[in-house]
Amino acid sequence: MASKPQVGIVGFTGCAGCQLSILDLENELLDLLGLVDIIDFRMAMSGNKKGPYDILFVEGSIVNKHQEEELKELRKKAKVLVAIGSCASFGGIQAIRSYRDNEKIKIAQYGKENIDKVEVIKVKPINKVVKVDHYLLECPVNKYEFLEFVKYYLVGGTPTLPNYPVCQQCKANGNRCIFLEDGIMCMGPIIQAGCNALCPSYGMPCDGCRGSTLEAAYDQQVQLMIEKGASVEDITRYILKYNGEDKQVHDFLMEKWKEQDKKLVYQED
Ligand code: SF4
Ligand code: SF4
Ligand code: SF4
Repeated sequence: MASKPQVGIVGFTGCAGCQLSILDLENELLDLLGLVDIIDFRMAMSGNKKGPYDILFVEGSIVNKHQEEELKELRKKAKVLVAIGSCASFGGIQAIRSYRDNEKIKIAQYGKENIDKVEVIKVKPINKVVKVDHYLLECPVNKYEFLEFVKYYLVGGTPTLPNYPVCQQCKANGNRCIFLEDGIMCMGPIIQAGCNALCPSYGMPCDGCRGSTLEAAYDQQVQLMIEKGASVEDITRYILKYNGEDKQVHDFLMEKWKEQDKKLVYQED
């Protein structure tokens, strides 16, 4: 009998919630263990092996040189590398740091006397360091999409991500629109569906944790937000929340601030 695919699940900088989400699969995880060998899951087990991997799932973003080197080494040992969650896919919440004065942040965090000892670099989604073969989105990662990916892999296919907005699933669920009707800022019109409009279905706005759709209509979204009373600064905060290193988001915001003769702080690489 052919050996089972060797799978690793590793984490860099994030809250480890994506790994917990996978652990939370409970019953399904037991079935999964019959089909693949999990050889590296440092959060959940001991005796881990550092590859070689048929599939390596990577959580978290990269924030220092040591992590950059470690990720490059892991990539060499992985046939397929999958980013899991918004931190790994587009920087996550910590990528907001790219839009602040990095020196001030370092001083606040480590004290002036220590900043030369800290090798902190700009927050990077993992595709800025290595090639990524597939993305599994959400914060935390959608555990059912994780399972779906493994199933596809086992039969030799790859799932595709939906490229339509959260609003489409929100409307299909029959929800009232809290953005248009109550003026609560909701990012659903520009964010990739796939979560079955989880937040709006519980009366909460979509914060954008699955990242933008490929042809996100930012202009219309911004126009609507302005009509509902948001300033450019507010809009920037909402749009950047999870997607600080998404190039589409970055380029759009830079242009908007320029149009207003303002400069948005951004650390280049
Ligand atoms: S994507 Fe969310 S849940 Fe996953 S590590 Fe980042 S912050 Fe945590
Ligand atoms: S509540 Fe949000 S996700 Fe739902 S339809 Fe309105 S804007 Fe779209
Ligand atoms: S509704 Fe928005 S914030 Fe909530 S899970 Fe879906 S994409 Fe993420």
